[in-house]
Amino acid sequence: MSTPDIAMPPKATLGIFGGTFDPIHNGHLILARALRDTFALPEVRLIPTGLPPHRPAPPVSPQQRFDWVNQALAGESGLTADDREVRRDGYCYTVDTLAELQQALPDTLLVWLIGADSFHHLTTWQRWTDLLEAGHMVIAARPGYDWTKLSEELTRVLQSREVPAQTDALGKGRISILPTPLMPFSATDLREKLARGEDINGLTPVAEAIRQSGLYLT
Ligand code: ATP
Repeated sequence: MSTPDIAMPPKATLGIFGGTFDPIHNGHLILARALRDTFALPEVRLIPTGLPPHRPAPPVSPQQRFDWVNQALAGESGLTADDREVRRDGYCYTVDTLAELQQALPDTLLVWLIGADSFHHLTTWQRWTDLLEAGHMVIAARPGYDWTKLSEELTRVLQSREVPAQTDALGKGRISILPTPLMPFSATDLREKLARGEDINGLTPVAEAIRQSGLYLT
C-alpha cells in the first residue's frame, strides 16, 4: 500500500481515548489535550474499559475508575468521560466500541488514540486489521517503546498508513504519531508509589480521592 493521499478533511470528528485508567494520571490528561488540540477536535471521549481482554481484571471496580476519570476532567474543555464499556457485560474490545460509536455517528470520523506500548502489541488485539480501518489511529510515543523494535508486520502497517499529525491529513485507515514529548507517567508507577506510601500529588489530579479510597495500598 502506498502513502494515502491527503484528501478533504471530514465534516465531523470525534476523539476517542480508551484505557484501563487504573487510575487516570497526568500522562493520560496531557495526551487527551494534545489529541484535541493537534487535530482541532471538538470533543475527546475518555472511555475506561470494563473488563480488559489483555490483562487481569483490575481490583478497582470499573465504576470507581470511571468516577475518577470523570472527576479528573472537571473544567477540561472538550474532554468527556464515556461509561459505555463500564456498563457492558463481558470483555470490552476496542473494535466493538469503535463500531458502536460509528453506528451512532455515521458521518463522524473517529480519531482514536493509543500509546506506543499498545501499538507494539496491536496484532494480538481482537480483529486488529478491522481496527486499522475503524478510524484515524493516533499513536503516542512512550518511554521504552522504540519504533525500530516494531515487528516487521507493524512496521509495514505504519509505513504504508502514516500521514502528518494535522487536521487536513485526517482520514479513515490512516495513522499519525502525536507530536508530544516522551512522558514517564504510568499507572503502574503511581500504584507502586502509593503502596510504598510516597507522594502522588504531582502524578494525578485525583490524588486526594485516590488516597481517601484506601485502594492500591497493598
Ligand atoms: P499501566 O501502567 O497500569 O499499564 P497505563 O499508564 O499504561 O497503565 P492505561 O490506562 O493502560 O495506563 O493507558 C491507556 C492508554 O494510554 C494506553 O493506550 C497507553 O498506551 C496510553 N498511555 C498511558 N500512559 C502513557 C504515557 N505516559 N505515554 C504514552 N502513552 C500512554
